[in-house]
Amino acid sequence: AMAEAAMAARAPPDEEADECLREYRHLLSPDLLAGQVAFITGGGSGIGFRIAEIFMRHGCRTVIASRNLERVSEASKKLVAATGQQCLPLSIDVRQPQTIVAAVDEALKEFKRIDILINGAAGNFLCPASALSFNAFKTVIDIDTIGTFNTSKVLFEKYFRDHGGVIVNITATLSYRGQALQVHAGAAKAAIDAMTRHLAVEWGPNNIRVNSLAPGPITGTEGFRRLGGKFAEKSSLFDMIPLQRAGNKTEIAHSSLYLASPLSSYVTGTTLVVDGGSWLTSANNFSALLGIASSSA
Ligand code: NAP
Repeated sequence: AMAEAAMAARAPPDEEADECLREYRHLLSPDLLAGQVAFITGGGSGIGFRIAEIFMRHGCRTVIASRNLERVSEASKKLVAATGQQCLPLSIDVRQPQTIVAAVDEALKEFKRIDILINGAAGNFLCPASALSFNAFKTVIDIDTIGTFNTSKVLFEKYFRDHGGVIVNITATLSYRGQALQVHAGAAKAAIDAMTRHLAVEWGPNNIRVNSLAPGPITGTEGFRRLGGKFAEKSSLFDMIPLQRAGNKTEIAHSSLYLASPLSSYVTGTTLVVDGGSWLTSANNFSALLGIASSSA
């Protein structure tokens, strides 16, 4: 048997639910983001919640924004209690630009600045193209792709154009091999990766960096629960991943911290894949995955 896993590939501790970490050991300076403000869509749950927590643990104040005000308000209380930083919860629907404008105005009134935008809001489910309604496909494009454009453009006009900024778009590896049952999310996220490059080119002269972060299967998330993660875990399917495990939310937050901080000051227009090598080796057999999806539904 292999000796204890090397430190460099060991998962940091995490919590399954949308709760803050019970223990956290800083790997980077706790004031890496001191004085900065991050606007995080989808920051009330899952990956977005953990990104907010890790950023706050590095001195950042946050705005967490999604449709459900109760959800972001509850999340904000937990984040403030665990980190001692400020967190402003706001309601937005990324499909409606005027709600984003109102939220960004409110955030700027409160904090006077926004340095970082994390586009994390998204919707996903497993469905073969043959069973996907026209409206279901359109809804995913509306939230993921158009929502990312809407939010980026509002931040650009309201603040980044004149002050610079960093944008991190949370995407996925689904389109790299045409993942079965994922034409809607794969197409939506591929379009965001393209947008990352276009905006990096146009907005670079304004000192705005734009990158994508593509997670693999991440435990303790709605995505993991809805996309067959539990089944894959039970059936030892994660043994197929080069690092032989799913990732956790803290690992995605750490990679986001790199992309949002001056550690990546010369990185723009690219996609950072954070998946343990998963997309290279994981199952993509249409009929087999269809069987799994219909039996676990
Ligand atoms: P999640 O908790 O469901 O996060 C999605 C968030 O988006 C929710 O907080 C939701 O809050 C918000 N949202 C949905 N529609 C919205 C809208 N129209 N306007 C504003 N906010 C909206 O799921 P997650 O699994 O942590 O995923 C987070 C991100 O990681 C997503 O971009 C996802 O595609 C990506 N990702 C996840 C995995 C994974 O394994 N989990 C893998 C690859 C990529 P409200 O309901 O309050 O609006």
